[in-house]
Amino acid sequence: MGEFDLIEKYFTWDDSSTHQSDSASIIKGIGDDGAILKCPANQHLVTSVDTLVSGVHFPEDTDPQAIGHKALAVNLSDLAAMGATPTWFTLALTLPDSNDNWLSAFSSGLKKIAQAFDIKLIGGDTTRGPLSITINVMGFVNSNETLLRDGAKPSEKIYVTGTLGGAALGLKAHQNSLSASQKSLLNTADFDACIHQLNYPNPRIAESVVIANYASACMDISDGLLQDLSHLTNLSGTGAEIDLNKLPLPKALAKLKDEDAWSFALSGGDDYELLFTVAETKVSDFERALHHLSTPIRCIGVITSEKGKISDTTGRLLNKTSQSQGYDHFS
Ligand code: ADP
Ligand code: MG
Repeated sequence: MGEFDLIEKYFTWDDSSTHQSDSASIIKGIGDDGAILKCPANQHLVTSVDTLVSGVHFPEDTDPQAIGHKALAVNLSDLAAMGATPTWFTLALTLPDSNDNWLSAFSSGLKKIAQAFDIKLIGGDTTRGPLSITINVMGFVNSNETLLRDGAKPSEKIYVTGTLGGAALGLKAHQNSLSASQKSLLNTADFDACIHQLNYPNPRIAESVVIANYASACMDISDGLLQDLSHLTNLSGTGAEIDLNKLPLPKALAKLKDEDAWSFALSGGDDYELLFTVAETKVSDFERALHHLSTPIRCIGVITSEKGKISDTTGRLLNKTSQSQGYDHFS
């Protein structure tokens, strides 16, 4: 199968069932040298790109359907972190060979999440080499509703969506590197739930629409809470105090010893939840607005004035211990 047949067969979808606003539209999509897009007036374009490399961002034996889902989900999570509504994406695919089974599972996972979030594939690139998937997403945000990392101020409350640490536990379970005592506390349903969290992250787009009305700073958690929180606090010129007992743990993690559970939740990575801050004056309105959402959103701490310091409620420094490092590709 040639490159053009491959694109036609797997990446040209009938999108007639989805609707996008009239103000953002595709003038030319897949098939020419570039896409031509009409952008809505009075909104800002937000764009972000993420690459998933086989063996680095997902285990080599991952179900290709999950790879298709995750490749777009991690990018949608970045749009959510910016308060943007997804509109279009491009796909640069490097494949070792053109394997029909792999491509059909990958494209079905990708198509399913693309349609669920009403984001359209407008072009890409297809090359041969070690498996890697790069997706560039585009979305729009009202100019007064952008969510940046650098807006947190002392005394603001720190919130996270969903639960933390499940995906990291899933990865360790998949790699068979949990300790015997950890394994003894968990059952098959726990492992399956965590591996599902690892493979099928749920981008918090709907939550972000609500959060954008109240938050002063926001980002998504991809490399572990502590590492990502330290980006947010450093850029904001602040510190943070985290109440470890408030960390939202998935069922499986809640069965582990506190220190083990906290380590996964603080430093695990692959959560793709939103981390954001809300000023005290807005907290009660914000918490009322949360009743409209089905996703749990939990306050886990408070922004402090001591720049660079992230501690627990007893004053113990959290971001200087060896177990608290998040994922860094170059360290
Ligand atoms: P060029 O030769 O100009 O680089 P290509 O031959 O790479 O163009 O691609 C032809 C068309 O197919 C372009 O519109 C491109 O955006 C699209 N395309 C290529 N690969 C993919 C892909 N993996 N997914 C979606 N569209 C793709
Ligand atoms: Mg060309």
